Amino acid sequence: MSTLLLKNADVLVTMNENRDEILNGALIAVDNKIAWVGESSQADVWLRENYPETAKAGFDKTIDAAGCVVTPGLINCHHHLFQSLTRGVATGPGKNLFDWLRFLYPIWEGLTSEAIYTSAKISLSELVMSGCTTASDHLYIYPNDTRIDDEIRAAQEIGVRFHPNRGSMTIGESQGGLSPDSVCEDEEFVIKECLRAIEIYHDPDPFSMLRIGVAPCMPNTVSPDLMRESARIAASYPMVKLHTHTSETEDDNNYTVEHYGKRPIDYCEWLGWVGEHVWFAHLVQITDSEVDWLANTHTGACHCPSSNMILGSGIAPIRQMVDKNVRVGLGVDGTSSNDGNHLLGEARLAMLLQRVGWPGFQSSASRFTAREALELATIGGARVLQQDTIGVLSPGKAADFIAYRMDDLAHAGGRSDPVSSLLTCYSGNVWLSVINGKVVVEDGQFLPFELGPVIEHHNAISMDLIEKANS
Ligand SMILES: [Zn+2]
Repeated sequence: MSTLLLKNADVLVTMNENRDEILNGALIAVDNKIAWVGESSQADVWLRENYPETAKAGFDKTIDAAGCVVTPGLINCHHHLFQSLTRGVATGPGKNLFDWLRFLYPIWEGLTSEAIYTSAKISLSELVMSGCTTASDHLYIYPNDTRIDDEIRAAQEIGVRFHPNRGSMTIGESQGGLSPDSVCEDEEFVIKECLRAIEIYHDPDPFSMLRIGVAPCMPNTVSPDLMRESARIAASYPMVKLHTHTSETEDDNNYTVEHYGKRPIDYCEWLGWVGEHVWFAHLVQITDSEVDWLANTHTGACHCPSSNMILGSGIAPIRQMVDKNVRVGLGVDGTSSNDGNHLLGEARLAMLLQRVGWPGFQSSASRFTAREALELATIGGARVLQQDTIGVLSPGKAADFIAYRMDDLAHAGGRSDPVSSLLTCYSGNVWLSVINGKVVVEDGQFLPFELGPVIEHHNAISMDLIEKANS
């Protein structure tokens, strides 16, 4: 048995049902679960009553979090980790979604197993440093020797809780699709690979560190048959979920209307994509009745504000979704349309963007609060990924928690309400990250491996990839 005490936090944000925030907060973790949360002065009392042996011997690890806000680990619901290799390539000049994709596909054709593995290490490390403890990824392109195993290996080396989704593209340009034929796969092979990943890696346990999802890239990149078969596969395994991009832009909406006579959400529902095990990324260009459909069917949504702004896609109606109790989480989206992996920063942008308004709604600074944004990044993400052991700090939940320093330069003067300041001030990195009971970041230092050589290797792969595409 391993015991950890975190004490003296300025504020410990529980995200429990009452949304309790504990001043001078403490937390005791036993192995990979939270055993107790409360005021620091009560920690010893609780320990003597419940673990008298440990009370005599002392904790295996004690962390003094004075000067910090402690929150549940943040949860990222949508990403394409490999895109760290092409940051800044298409985002500087500004391109809309379909042009952005057409520009990048020829570069991504050169991806290799080593490129997927190394970029996953980079993107996941940056995510962890920003506060993320659970990450979902959507890997939808498999040229050369690439496999979903490559990014799983990277996640396991870091120790981050991981929900990789086996994506796919099967309709190339020659069939009226968007992507080059060279990066499209055979549908039978896609199905085999989905089943292989599930059989080898998927763990439905409530405290699982690794769950596989099935995730065609977009409704316009695979056939209706593969969409339907994906839904059938997901339904035949516990906690295997369905994910795709939907209604990101009007071009997206127009494609399914032109090809199938249905808007994307209607199209997905027609093929069995509905319910708690389904979540869609973006949902920017959706109608009021589609928001109602999400609420009524308990289908989840992932909001990606940076990507929606960089690609000029629009503002998703997150205020309406939250008001109607739609399950909403946050995603940084791929690192080529963000161009970063900062999940706390994404929560900040979600808050700001909802204050600006969208057609038919007036701007209002009070429309979305800092605490609501933190909810999206924690308990909101847990609901979307259907992992109710995370996103909350209370006894029996997973020991996934993080601490940000509030006594630094960026937060000077913001300590009267540190929880608000965490979101409204510029977003810093974590001082502490504990995932599944293991310390992954301590004193602001990333522990799993030395980052410098990985960054250097990653940059060499990136330059090589881009040069080959241009030659
Ligand atoms: Zn995406």
